[in-house]
Amino acid sequence: MDIHEYQAKDILRGFGVPVPRGHLAYSPEQAAYAARQLGGQGPWVVKAQIHSGGRGEAGGVKLCKTEAEIKDYAASLLGQQLVTKQTDANGKGVYRLYVEEASDIAQELYLGFVLDRSSERIMIVASAHGGMEIEDLAESDPDSLVRSVIDPAVGLAEYQARDVGFRLGLTGMQVMQFTTFLKACYRAYRDLDAMMVEINPLVITGAGDLIALDAKMSFDTNALYRRPQVEALRDASQEDPREAIAADNGLAYVGLDGDIGCIINGAGLAMASMDMIQLAGGQPANFLDIGGGASPERVCQAFRTVLSDRNVSVILVNIFAGINRCDWIANGVIQAYREVGIDLPVVVRLSGTNVEEGQKIIRESGLPIISADTLAEAAEKAVAAGAQKIAAE
Ligand code: GDP
Ligand code: MN
Repeated sequence: MDIHEYQAKDILRGFGVPVPRGHLAYSPEQAAYAARQLGGQGPWVVKAQIHSGGRGEAGGVKLCKTEAEIKDYAASLLGQQLVTKQTDANGKGVYRLYVEEASDIAQELYLGFVLDRSSERIMIVASAHGGMEIEDLAESDPDSLVRSVIDPAVGLAEYQARDVGFRLGLTGMQVMQFTTFLKACYRAYRDLDAMMVEINPLVITGAGDLIALDAKMSFDTNALYRRPQVEALRDASQEDPREAIAADNGLAYVGLDGDIGCIINGAGLAMASMDMIQLAGGQPANFLDIGGGASPERVCQAFRTVLSDRNVSVILVNIFAGINRCDWIANGVIQAYREVGIDLPVVVRLSGTNVEEGQKIIRESGLPIISADTLAEAAEKAVAAGAQKIAAE
């Protein structure tokens, strides 16, 4: 789960990371008032709060010298979709702005904490050349990247933090500040079950101090149950609307670009089904694992979620029932026809517990459901039905 920059800065500030002073604003008037509250002669930085980086290049970050300039800029940004290199063509809606006192930048560094899956540990990635995206940096200047893997039994040791600082070319007092900075970021990462902390840029000011000019944090969704204070930071306006609906219904769903909607039980079977769809010449619209013991109500919710995607032209239900029961699934499909109102072809393949009963329920329902016996057959029938539906339109 991603959060906004201002939220990440609030968290990091609490752990002792130096960040610029700032205030949140939902309107041009609030943005101007935020600058007044910050005081000083300006300039101030006004930053669009969206779940994406690359805002600077996209016009979502501006240095403003007067309150009038802040108001004008805020008015031009709020309510708009901001498209960056990291968003899709729709961009992300700007509903919140963050107004900060401007910092005096002497040097921009890159600092990231990521989960390194090969060593199964948290890894620091840093570079003396910040400001640009890490992907571009890895491309243009791979030798500048400093990596350091943290031993979970020891935590981030002082000497290790100093070593990273020296490798970035920092000197005396800056290394001391950097060590404190790194340890605070690491504690925030570890204590809150983060997946990523990224400070880009980490700035050395004209006075020689370190400050987090930008901050990005994302969190392990599977740990949110024990981090209610993090879960409360969720902003559904920034999520794929399909995935937001799925999350509200407690379904494991990932939106994709194709037109074949998938309702499947088990992550493995879901992946295999997506492969079979591609093999049959089609494209899945989503990954959806309905889970074990799916009640008819849950099947209905799955239909609602899949149908919230307007690109879907056919639905493929593929259930291998172990803990599930085919008759429940069949009843769920029929209930979905009644309650959700389905005007798309539906292909159902059932296998496992109570399969005869499930197939009988489908057969006797009188609904135009296309049955299939095997995974391959189901995928082929779904691709054919989807193509027919699209051709008919
Ligand atoms: P991103 O583009 O979404 O990653 O947003 P950032 O927060 O990283 O801001 C983009 C760029 O705006 C930074 O790399 C800086 O060059 C510039 N910027 C942001 N805040 C300040 C500031 O306080 N002072 C100055 N001079 N530039 C800033
Ligand atoms: Mn940035």
